[in-house]
Amino acid sequence: MHKNKIWLSSPHMGGNEQKYIRDAFKENWIAPLGPNVTGFEEDIKRFLNSKANEESEVAALSSGTAALHLALVILGVKSGDEVICQSMTFAASANPIKYVGATPVFVDSEEDTLNICPVQLEIAIKDRIEKGNKPKAIIAVHLYGMPYKVEEVHQVAKKYGIPVVEDSAESLGSTYNGLNCGTFGELAVLSFNGNKIITTSGGGALVAKDLRHKEKAVFLATQARDAAPHYQHSHIGYNYRLSNICAGIGRGQMEVLDDRVSARREMNQFYLNLFADITGVNVQTEPDERYFSNHWLSVIQVDEKETEGISREYLREELEKENIECRPLWKPMHMQPVFKDAPYYGTGVAERAFENGLCMPSGSNLSEEDKRRIENAIKACFNK
Ligand SMILES: *Cc1c(COP(=O)(O)O)cnc(C)c1O
Repeated sequence: MHKNKIWLSSPHMGGNEQKYIRDAFKENWIAPLGPNVTGFEEDIKRFLNSKANEESEVAALSSGTAALHLALVILGVKSGDEVICQSMTFAASANPIKYVGATPVFVDSEEDTLNICPVQLEIAIKDRIEKGNKPKAIIAVHLYGMPYKVEEVHQVAKKYGIPVVEDSAESLGSTYNGLNCGTFGELAVLSFNGNKIITTSGGGALVAKDLRHKEKAVFLATQARDAAPHYQHSHIGYNYRLSNICAGIGRGQMEVLDDRVSARREMNQFYLNLFADITGVNVQTEPDERYFSNHWLSVIQVDEKETEGISREYLREELEKENIECRPLWKPMHMQPVFKDAPYYGTGVAERAFENGLCMPSGSNLSEEDKRRIENAIKACFNK
């Protein structure tokens, strides 16, 4: 019997997206600027600033990767510089370090959130300073929506005067101490790629504390054109602005963001219930009440000794046979062939999480029938 594929995370439209796109067509704003771009920026800004200690400004861009690239350019990171980056993350967190000619220095995760370990972070900073190259920035990631140890990480960053670029690509709608992820770093990055909690099909944003940083991002993202009637350039520019069509999708999606967060959190609860009486499988959840995850993806860790031989890979393969998509956690960057020469500081936490961890289908649009299929497939693996 053919069964429909259950995806890890698939786009989930709210309904009003097409209205904003129709407006764009009606007014012929088929360009990387227009009322939807401005409106989308305002929507994100309002959302972020509703729970924040400081006001942020938002520049809508063509991708989260572009936003990370511009963040490093704006911070003045150059060839020969070093940038610290959480090792366990998606490659897009680290690649922009190479775009600007700098060297990534990778840091391990801690067990509670699987994000950058503040202890290893400080060890890395001290050692790089001793070696004569103080890192220019720290890229910290709220992986799978789980906030990193905000207080500890920013304390270390502050102590050494190093700016934090907050990679919030996976964590729109997550909070720490009641404050929105995306509002903690000097600069922060959002992604609206097709698999994220809300999507513009492709897109991203740079979030800045300083209005001048936002203006610089827009300037650089639109080919760095100086104020002149002809095309005049005194900086290298990029074509990184978000299209007015995609921004229209984003405006519709912002209307349903809270619902999407609730639905993903319900998926996490579904897995907590499902695995409650299965020994050896741990569902990742918030370490304490300061953390509120959007649970973009629900993550399980499989302890093969406790499950008596049922491994992460066995589970993944069995689910795949049922046409249910699961994926191992991000392979740490220090284990990637392309970054094999980069310095790394850690004790193996990320490596173990990669070995044992599995991302489960977490979409906000999974039906009750989808959930039953997942439940039955898991129970079959454990003879329940
Ligand atoms: C998706 C993602 C990005 C990149 O965003 P794009 O919009 O796909 O370029 C960066 N960092 C993390 C952690 C991501 O998950």
